[in-house]
Amino acid sequence: MNDKLNETSLDTITGALCEIMGIEPPNGAKEGNEALISYAKNVFGGEKADRIFMYNPDAIAQWIYEKYPCLFTETVKRTDIAVPLLSPMPSVTPVCFATMYTGTQPESHGIRKYEKPVLKVDTIFDAMIRAGKKCAIVAHTGCTVSSIFLEREMDYFSYDTQEEVHARVAELIIEDKYDFIAIHACNYDTLMHKNGTESLTSLSEIKVNTAFYAMFDALIKKHWKNHNVFMGYGMDHGCHEIDAGAGSHGLDMPEDLNITHFYKAYKKE
Ligand SMILES: [Zn+2]
Repeated sequence: MNDKLNETSLDTITGALCEIMGIEPPNGAKEGNEALISYAKNVFGGEKADRIFMYNPDAIAQWIYEKYPCLFTETVKRTDIAVPLLSPMPSVTPVCFATMYTGTQPESHGIRKYEKPVLKVDTIFDAMIRAGKKCAIVAHTGCTVSSIFLEREMDYFSYDTQEEVHARVAELIIEDKYDFIAIHACNYDTLMHKNGTESLTSLSEIKVNTAFYAMFDALIKKHWKNHNVFMGYGMDHGCHEIDAGAGSHGLDMPEDLNITHFYKAYKKE
């Protein structure tokens, strides 16, 4: 296992996505991820993306990816650029998603522990809405992502099961109405806490996420072929094993902080 911390922060994603879409980033967002920006520029030949699709599976650590690459095969096939990133501290879900989608560190966005207040600071969703983009979040009822970005002029879809979450995403792709869709998939996180990071039960969930992502990719290629699409499979933080066959995260350690995001761009036909 890599025992060094990744150098590039998760706070570079919002700036990159805004630049790739050609909109002003939210106030205070850090400089966008250079590797992603230049990759997208290259694929779109100087044009901007008009669809961004972000699939966010919770808690899948970089070390899990390195140890079990077979669970990621179909995601990697749909990836042109894999970006190692560093989650903020404490590495818990609300803190990390606030960093991912504001482009700032916890001292700026204000979520510094496991709590789910509605963010009052500027987020990527606010920036998109100001630029006239239609945004949607699809997530599990009551989870971080369905809570902290509320109160914006956008659409929120929350469901009690992962099957409903993923089915709605498929419908939204076919509807071809939203410019930016963010999906939170918390299935691995939920099972990892109870059953351990490497139990068959937990690891099977990653295969589920991979299969759903591959299906979304197929739908996007068919239904969004008239758009410049930028899509990503991006985690919030990692995880580590604790006693009694359970899993956890939140600590200042490479297992919890190192993540890898997978991205791909499709130029319109
Ligand atoms: Zn999380």
